[in-house]
Amino acid sequence: MASIGFVGLGNMGGPMAANLISAGHAVTGFDLSQAARDRLKEVGGTPADNVAEAVYRADVVVTMLPAGKHVRAVYTGPDGILENARPGTLLIDSSTIDVDSARAVAHAAAEAGMAMIDAPVSGGVGGATAGTLTFMVGGEAEAFERARPFLQAMGKTIVHAGGSGTGQAAKICNNMILGISMIAVSEAFVLAERLGLDAQKLFDISSTASGQCWSLTTYCPVPGPVPSSPANRDYQPGFAAQMMLKDLKLAQEAAQSSGASTPLGAQASTLYNLFCNAGNADVDFSGIVRFLRGQS
Ligand code: NAD
Repeated sequence: MASIGFVGLGNMGGPMAANLISAGHAVTGFDLSQAARDRLKEVGGTPADNVAEAVYRADVVVTMLPAGKHVRAVYTGPDGILENARPGTLLIDSSTIDVDSARAVAHAAAEAGMAMIDAPVSGGVGGATAGTLTFMVGGEAEAFERARPFLQAMGKTIVHAGGSGTGQAAKICNNMILGISMIAVSEAFVLAERLGLDAQKLFDISSTASGQCWSLTTYCPVPGPVPSSPANRDYQPGFAAQMMLKDLKLAQEAAQSSGASTPLGAQASTLYNLFCNAGNADVDFSGIVRFLRGQS
C-alpha cells in the first residue's frame, strides 16, 4: 500500500481521498480549509499543516484544486510540491484546468525528476463519493500505468487520452459538445412551444430521429419526458451552470491559443455567461431553457 499526499480536499478531493483510504492507502492531506482537514481526519487520513508536510514522504501525490493558477502555485511555487516531494514521486493532477498550465507544470515536474499526469474527471460529487468517476488522462504511458491502480480506487472508467495535456483537452472538448448541445435542445423546445408542438411529442420524435443526443434523451431540459433529469426538480444541480461556464471558458482559451475555430463554443460561452450573471450560477446548466424562453 502506498503513501499518498493529497492537496485540495474540497467537494471532490475530500471523497476521493476517502476512497484512497478505503482502498488501504495511507493519505496525508492538506487544504487551506480547516474544516476540510478535519473531515480528512474523520475518514482515517492524516491532516498536514502545509503542502510540504503532505508530500515530502509520499510515493504518489494527488491534487484536486480549483483552477490553473492554484495548480501552478501549489506545484511550482515556493514551498510547493516540486520543491518538497522526492524525485521519482508520481504526480496526479485531477483538477480541471487550462491545457497550457497542465503542460507547463508537467514540464517543470519532469525537470525535477517526477512524472506527472493530468487526470481530470467527470462524474461530479456523486461519482467522487461512490468511487465511480471517469478519468481522462494525459501523460506518458508508463506514468499512466503507474497511476492506474490509484485512479481505479477513485473511479470506474480510466482512459489514456495521449500525451501531456490531452486529458484536459478531452475534458473541455467533451464539455463544449455538451454545452452547445444543451443550448440546441433547449432552443428546439422553446421553438416547439411557440409553434404549438407538445414537448413530449417533440421528445418522442427527436429521441428516435437525427436530433437524438445525450442532452435530449438523458438530461432533457424540460420536465416530463425524462423523469430523472434536473428539469423535474426545479433545475437543482446536477451540474451547476457556473461549472459549465468554467469549462466553456477553458475551451475558448484553448481555441484561441491553438488557433482552432469554435464559433458555436464561443456563443455557448457567451450565453452561459449571461445565464450565470442573471443569478443562475448555482442552477443546473439545463435551466438555460428557462432563460432562452424568457428571451423569446
Ligand atoms: P472545491 O472548491 O470544493 O475544492 C477545492 C479545494 O482546494 C478547496 O477546499 C480549497 O480550500 C482548496 N485549495 C485551494 N487552493 C489551495 C492551496 N493553495 N492549497 C491547498 N488547498 C487549496 O472544488 P471542487 O468542486 O472539489 O472542484 C475541484 C476541481 O474539480 C475543479 O477544478 C473543478 O472544476 C473540478 N471538477 C469538479 C466537479 C464537481 O462536480 N464539483 C466535477 C468535475 C470536475
